[in-house]
This record gives sequence, C-alpha cells and structure tokens, in this order.
Amino acid sequence: MSTPGQTSSTKITYATMSAERMEDLHRELDRAIEQIKSTFGRNYPLVIGASHIQLAEQFEARSPIDTRILLGRFPRAGVEHVRSAIGEARAAFPAWSARPWRERVTLLKKVADRIRARRWELSALMGYEAGKNRLECVGDVEESADLIEYYCNQIEQHDGFEVTLGTLGPNEENSSVLRPYGVWAVISPFNFPLALAAGPSGGALVSGNTVVFKPASATPMLGYALAEVMVEAGMPPGVFNFITGSGSTAGQELITNGDVDGIVFTGSKDVGMHLIRDNATRLTPRPLVIEMGGKNPAIIMKSADLDKASDGVYRSAFGAQGQKCSACSRVYVNGQIRDEFVRLLVEKTRKIKIGNPLDRDVYMGPVINEDAVRTFERAVERARNDGGEILTGGRRLTHGDFAHGHFVEPTIIDRLPVDHPLFAEELFVPITLIGDVTTLDDAIVLANRTEYGLTAGIFSEDDREIAQFFDRIQAGVTYVNRRAGATTGAWPGIQPFGGWKGSTATGKAGGGFYYVQQFMREQSQTVVD
Ligand code: NDP
Repeated sequence: MSTPGQTSSTKITYATMSAERMEDLHRELDRAIEQIKSTFGRNYPLVIGASHIQLAEQFEARSPIDTRILLGRFPRAGVEHVRSAIGEARAAFPAWSARPWRERVTLLKKVADRIRARRWELSALMGYEAGKNRLECVGDVEESADLIEYYCNQIEQHDGFEVTLGTLGPNEENSSVLRPYGVWAVISPFNFPLALAAGPSGGALVSGNTVVFKPASATPMLGYALAEVMVEAGMPPGVFNFITGSGSTAGQELITNGDVDGIVFTGSKDVGMHLIRDNATRLTPRPLVIEMGGKNPAIIMKSADLDKASDGVYRSAFGAQGQKCSACSRVYVNGQIRDEFVRLLVEKTRKIKIGNPLDRDVYMGPVINEDAVRTFERAVERARNDGGEILTGGRRLTHGDFAHGHFVEPTIIDRLPVDHPLFAEELFVPITLIGDVTTLDDAIVLANRTEYGLTAGIFSEDDREIAQFFDRIQAGVTYVNRRAGATTGAWPGIQPFGGWKGSTATGKAGGGFYYVQQFMREQSQTVVD
C-alpha cells in the first residue's frame, strides 16, 4: 500500500524529473482525468459560514488547454459578500481560538489526509484548470498536504508555543505564549492553486485564526476543492470561508476591510506593494505575510558540468511554462564555455514536448490566459526590435490541437545587452535570456542587480566560487549544481521557499522554520501569588 505522498515506490515532488517506473501514478491519473470530466460545467457557490451561496452574477472558469471546456461557473462576490464572510470568520474566532491547540492540530491533519485521499482527482482537475503537467500537478497537491502537516508538526514540536520563563522574585510565574490575531485574509495566485492556498490557510488556521480565502480568478475550481476538504475534515462553519470574485472588488475589500486582522498574500509585486501601501495608511498596523515575484538568475562558470547546467536551466526556465515565481529567466554564462552551454540548452529546449499537459509524455502545457500570451508576444517582439536573437521558440502555437488553447514555445533570447529591461522585468512566461560574463564577480553583480531576490543558482565545480556565491548572492532560495533547477525541489521542512528584497515583505519562507509563527503574536503572562 502507498504511504502518504507516495506511489508504490516514488514520492512526487517538484524535483521528480521522470515519470519512468510510475505506472501506478499514470494509471490513477488516467482514471481521474476521465472521471473528472463528468463534474464540468456546474455552478459553484461561495461558502460563507454554514451557507453555500449562489449568485446571479457569475464568471466562467475555462481550461487554458482548450477554452471550449467550461470547467464551472463561480459567483462574482461583491463587497457585501466579502463583508459577510469576514463577519462569519469574526464570529467563529472566539470558539476556534479557544480550542486546545492539540485539537486544532488533529483537525488540520485531517484536512491534509483528505487532500491526500483526493490527490488524483485534485491533480487531474489542476491539469485542466492551471494547464500544468502531470508531475507538476501531483507535486502541487502533495505539497499542499505536506505544508499543512508541517505547520501542525511545528506547533506540536514547540508545545503549542507556550514557554515557561525565568522570574525576577519569589511567588512569581512568567510565561510566553504565542496567540492568534483573529481573522486572516488568504489571497492566492493561479500558478500553485492548491499549495499556495492550503499552505497559508493551514498556517493561519492551526495557529487559531479564522480565514476568508480568495483564490485567483483563473483557478477557482481548486479553491473550491480546498473549501470542500475543509468541510469534509469537519471544520466548524465560519472558521474557513471561501469567496470568489475579482481582485479589484472582492480582493480589494479584503485588504481594506478594518475587520481583517492579518493578510497572507502570494502574487505579483504590483498587487503585493499595493497591499503594503494600503497597510501603511491604516490607523492600526496589522501583520502582512507577503510573497511576490522573481527574476531569477543562474550563473554558469567555466568549471561547470554543462550537461547538468543545461538541464537545470531548461527545467527551471520552462517547467510549468515559466509560470513559477522561481523560474530561471536569465542566465549569466562565462564566455569561454558559452557556445557549448548554449548549444546544449537549445538542443534540450527544442526537444521539449508541448501539448495537452494531461498527456503522459507532455512537459509543457499552455500558459494561463490570453494576457500571458500577449506578454510573451510583446517580449519577443521587443527583443527582436532591440537586436536580440531568438535562438529557439518565439512563436504562439495555433495549429491542430493548439488551436483553442494558450500555447507558446519555450524561448531562449540571446545578444541583448545585460542592462536591457527584459533582464529586469518579471514576465512569467517561458522566456529565458542569455547574458555573457567573464568573471564570477561580474556574474554576481548582475545577478543581484534586480529588485527581486527569490531564487538563484550557480553551476560550478570550484569550491571557492561556490562559497563566494553563497556569501554574496541576494536571494532566499539558492542552489548549486542542481540538475532539477531552481526550487523544483522546494519542500516543507526540506527546502523552505521564500524570497528576499522585492520578492517578499517578511523573508520568512513557506515550509520553513519561521513561517507559522507569523500568524501569532507573543503575549508574556506574569502571575504573582
Ligand atoms: P496577481 O498578483 O495578479 O494575483 C494574485 C492574487 O491577488 C489573485 O487572487 C488576484 O485576484 C488578487 N488580486 C488582484 N488584485 C487585487 C487587489 N487589488 N486587492 C486584493 N487582491 C487582488 O498574481 P498571479 O495570480 O498572476 O500570480 C503570479 C504572480 O505570483 C507572479 O508575480 C509570481 O512571481 C507570484 N508568485 C510568487 C510566489 C512566491 O512564493 N514568492 C509563488 C507563486 C507566485 P484575481 O485573480 O481575481 O485578479
């Protein structure tokens, strides 16, 4: 029998690079992909307290693989619905926060178990909704359960964060307790539609907070699935509320409403900074746990194993169609080995199979929507106009099976000056740029010359270079000689995931040692007889 997170022999993470010997996984997915189709086209509700609320105002969730596939219709929540969800969360807070932490841990572990129990169905749904390939989807689902469980384990390992302190005199007892804030808004992006909803929600809930959760409008189906597993696990009404609607209306109300005590947001720097600016104008400060974008470099030195380096770059540049905050989107390569490295990278990129990501052997599916296609096309045109050379890719695909989806080619751009804006802007599409360097010093200066600081890697067989890289690189997730590429092995308790600089507001990584504490505040308690 499989243990949680595993097929009969293999745990699926983002570092899992091959589906060989995974016949069990594929059989389960084949079945789930067929079965899930019967659920398409339904109307979905908001979940506010104990009520499931349908609205006349709706928006459609369609598959980026083929936009003729209507996945479901979702309510377009207005300000009044968001307020009502916040009200329910507030009403549920006293009882939820008063529960012994062990009970909350038990319940949240049930949520993780429910996610695992539904892993194939959720993965199949994610393939349709987010357009990610099979292993990416299973990895996302498994990580969701592991993140929740990891935060539960941390609370257990720290005895509920209740610590007995020293005393200043006789008859005195002092202790420190971490306590929840109240109502948290959880706002998530489209690209990890379950992990970046379940992880933050799990952290907030196990700490004793209640939650109002809004998924990205591109991925409401997985958002609703999370609301379902909360109910299945026995979450009391009002503790976890689910709303859908536009960022500018429903999302905006979540960030401006004074009855929200904390916000956990993952998404673009634009929206994240908007949220931070709003917070700065408030009469009372409140905690923000914010993870934003990336423009992630890889450095290839003369001593590098170029087979490993080209694997690492193409996987992290084009995995999930470049729509990972961790995606490698610029490469600084030593001039002496650049030709051979570029040759290998182009060769491997040309072999990438693009297609329906639910097919077994497809590596790249569609980008999420037409906006992403336009971003891709504009960047390619701009590169061409400014003297860039498209080494491979550069086109939208519209023939045959691609005709009704958002498919573009993995693209490598060369010969742009290293100070070109495309080396600085997060594009979030499958494009990576090549820049030449002569020394490690040049490479590190260029790698750090960005507002972001999410991931960074080096390929080098020289220990001094590696030490210098770790010492000077400004990024939250760093790696050396990793064939799997950037963060594609990020995992709770193994490789925490979070940024520096403009990629974060806190620098405390998801799945890391310091994450769950952010949902609580310290209270010192002194009792004198
Ligand atoms: P967006 O910033 O566009 O959206 C993120 C969420 O914010 C969505 O739920 C969106 O809702 C909501 N939103 C939009 N406007 C507002 C507003 N005014 N007030 C409140 N909420 C709002 O990001 P994407 O979904 O496009 O995700 C991609 C981005 O996420 C990239 O920049 C990527 O780097 C980043 N990211 C960062 C990660 C990290 O760990 N650092 C991990 C994953 C992604 P709606 O969809 O309805 O507009």
